[in-house]
Amino acid sequence: MPPFAERFAGWRASLADLERWLLPAACLLCEAPVAEREGDALVCALCRSRWRAIPNPVCDRCGQPIVPGLTCRICSDWGPGLRRVRSAVWLGDSARRAVHRLKYDGWWRVAEAMALAMRDLEPLTGQVSLIPVPLGSRRARERGYNQSERIAASLGRLIGAPVRPDLLRRTRETQTQTALTPEARAANLAGAFACTGAGGVAAVLVDDVFTTGATLVSAGAAVAAAGAASVDGITFARAIEPVG
Ligand SMILES: [Zn+2]
Ligand SMILES: [Zn+2]
Repeated sequence: MPPFAERFAGWRASLADLERWLLPAACLLCEAPVAEREGDALVCALCRSRWRAIPNPVCDRCGQPIVPGLTCRICSDWGPGLRRVRSAVWLGDSARRAVHRLKYDGWWRVAEAMALAMRDLEPLTGQVSLIPVPLGSRRARERGYNQSERIAASLGRLIGAPVRPDLLRRTRETQTQTALTPEARAANLAGAFACTGAGGVAAVLVDDVFTTGATLVSAGAAVAAAGAASVDGITFARAIEPVG
């Protein structure tokens, strides 16, 4: 018998899913009726228009917009393994609401709209395997599902790529990252992932939000060490906008 928290999370998530099917088509973010639907994504055109795409040029490795000629401050001390990361949109109010709906409210169909925004990202060319960034087992139990796996599943359907959550796992619980400095984040995550069976795979790690990249760097190192042919990362949103 699973613990109560786990059963409750699963039950709440399936109710949220059922609710979306029963209600008339309303935007998952602003609740306005959705007139024109892009695919099956229940996010209205106005909310999607508020998702601001990451502008070019970007740093070749971490995907942060840069002034050409200046050294990128985000990825200058990244270890090896992860080749490049690209994100679809800035984490503005509307994108943050989408992330929140998916992560905490169990509204899985938001993932379909996120996948649509991500489908043309550079790493998604050729025959790639999508690897969702796994949650620690405690967090997975509490939530009942992994939001990154939901995004990867929607994206996989959209572009016809295999989704391989079986290749990567967390080896230990890590502290919540939000209150930590970039250096502390990296230390918190060092060796936190283990990967098997990725030999020769063109791996694309999938996550919801890019903040400092510490999670993707740590996960990417594990996938590269397991013999992947290449390791890239993609996220729906990117948190840190350059100032000035
Ligand atoms: Zn809306
Ligand atoms: Zn960079």
